[in-house]
Amino acid sequence: MKYSCEIIKDLIPLYTDEVCSAESRSAVEAHFAECPSCRGLYEKMKSDDITPVLESDAAEAVAYHEKRVRRRGFTVGAVIAAIFMIPILVCLIVDLASGSGLSWFFIVLASLLLAASVIIVPLMVPKHKLLISLTASAASLIILLGVIALYSGSDWFFMVASCVLFGSALVFLPIVVNCEPIKTALRGRKSLAVFFCDTVLFCIMAVCIGLYVEHPGYGATMAAISAPFISLAWALMLIIRYVRSGAAKTGICLIISGAFIFSVNNAVNSLLGYDIPWPVLRPFDWSYAAIDGNIKWVCLLACLSVGGILIVINAFSKGRKK
Ligand SMILES: [Zn+2]
Repeated sequence: MKYSCEIIKDLIPLYTDEVCSAESRSAVEAHFAECPSCRGLYEKMKSDDITPVLESDAAEAVAYHEKRVRRRGFTVGAVIAAIFMIPILVCLIVDLASGSGLSWFFIVLASLLLAASVIIVPLMVPKHKLLISLTASAASLIILLGVIALYSGSDWFFMVASCVLFGSALVFLPIVVNCEPIKTALRGRKSLAVFFCDTVLFCIMAVCIGLYVEHPGYGATMAAISAPFISLAWALMLIIRYVRSGAAKTGICLIISGAFIFSVNNAVNSLLGYDIPWPVLRPFDWSYAAIDGNIKWVCLLACLSVGGILIVINAFSKGRKK
């Protein structure tokens, strides 16, 4: 053996941490080949790795801080909830003292419920904060409307509630489907789910408005006006979602939009049983009577040509790639 065990033992920590020179490294390895005792010492030192200890310490620290932040959020939420109780109690006493029993008190209560759903709920729920807060605020908004409708003896509750639900769904459903656990459950079907819910809520809203206005012929008019627009929205969503190439989907969307602008007035009218003339192009006449037809033709021609060019470009670039 070229070096004594004592010298090699001094080098083993440096060798284990891979910080010794190439010369020391080969000396240690040469010694290991002949000396089982030093090799055993090295194996032992290697297995006494401190990485797992550090990792578990780090995880413990993170868990501790998470718990602290959660507890602090809960405390702040509880304090705000207690502050909310002050106006509720004051209103309760005043409403009772006025001698007419509880009346507008419930409006105050429902309004504060709505405020609490956006301030206190996010602080106090441990998981799925955004999803639960959005659901809570939508529910408390509906409750507030219900209470006001009951208090004022009105019959508009279902109409207003369905409109509020549809409007909030348009804005918030895209956020809701990106919240866990809904995101995982829907996987690749998020846009389909959002459109399906929006369509169902729209139909419910249309029915509720119809029941409220009680206008003869309302159903047919509503259906004739809504159907083309809902179809356009679905068509554009399906193309944007499922056509792969960017140029192709832009081209197809442009062509569909151009055709829609050109024909929607005739489509709605024919669904309603009226027969109106198709738009006419009069390029040298921009008077009031001709301008509508001219604009529709310009839109149609512009969308068809730009859309067509994009589709041709897409086809060519695909061919070249092949
Ligand atoms: Zn040795």
